[in-house]
Amino acid sequence: MRWDARKASEHKRINDGMNHPHRRVKGSSSPRAGPAGHRQNLLIAALPSADGCRLLAGCEPVEMQFGSILCKQYGRIRHVYFPTGGFISLLTQLGNRPGLEVGLVGAEGAVGITLALGMPIAPVRAVVQGTGSALRIEAARFSTELAKSPALRTAMFRYISVFMSQLAVTATCVRFHTVEARLARWLLMTRDQAGSDRFYLTQEFMAYMLGVRRVGVTRAARELSSRRLVSYIRGSIHILDVRGLENAACSCYASTKEAYTRFMRPPRRGAHPTSTRQPNQGCALLDN
Ligand SMILES: [Zn+2]
Repeated sequence: MRWDARKASEHKRINDGMNHPHRRVKGSSSPRAGPAGHRQNLLIAALPSADGCRLLAGCEPVEMQFGSILCKQYGRIRHVYFPTGGFISLLTQLGNRPGLEVGLVGAEGAVGITLALGMPIAPVRAVVQGTGSALRIEAARFSTELAKSPALRTAMFRYISVFMSQLAVTATCVRFHTVEARLARWLLMTRDQAGSDRFYLTQEFMAYMLGVRRVGVTRAARELSSRRLVSYIRGSIHILDVRGLENAACSCYASTKEAYTRFMRPPRRGAHPTSTRQPNQGCALLDN
């Protein structure tokens, strides 16, 4: 089973009906001032003002469409994406076996992060799972900004640590936890990224999330529905009971959130040059 953007045609219809993989957002140069649903990217927002402004000057706003492939597994990274509204699924695949989602990237992170390690090759495939906005910067420009900004390097290294933690949790989750508990976890993670209790997921995509066949997804979704935790009708997910779904989810949901807090937490005062930074509030590019 291999993900094919063409199979997302139904999603495209409910996601503005646009055909372009991603397009520049007209009339917006800012994650704060963009169209409805635009938010900041937290990695950029946490940079010192001068560093954030310089990075933003190299970025262009784009609209990402469901199913668009931002980079292929083992493909060359041409852009780094900083989501400000949409979210992206990171998938890995071995031969003809079903793929597996190993991470989700939203406004807290970025895609193309191995560039920060000097590696221009993507280890995973990045596919848009939630239509929305992002800022993107060309790989060469990003590398230039990285060389100029210790704060940006620190932020990227911390976020790479988050990603490595996600990989470790996913490997453990697949080995030890039931499909139903894993589905509950991924639905909660998707809810966090979507910022809504309602979103759209095909069984095919859920099979990717879990690394199981569709029949396994059907069984698990039916079980969660029978407990009135979610309703699932033709790909339309409505989370009815968040607390109940958290109880049904495996511990990996909490572990992943905790890892993000742990790795992204700013260092103690005076422990790093970025500790005296000012958030990039006031940056003209953010306020435009
Ligand atoms: Zn788990």
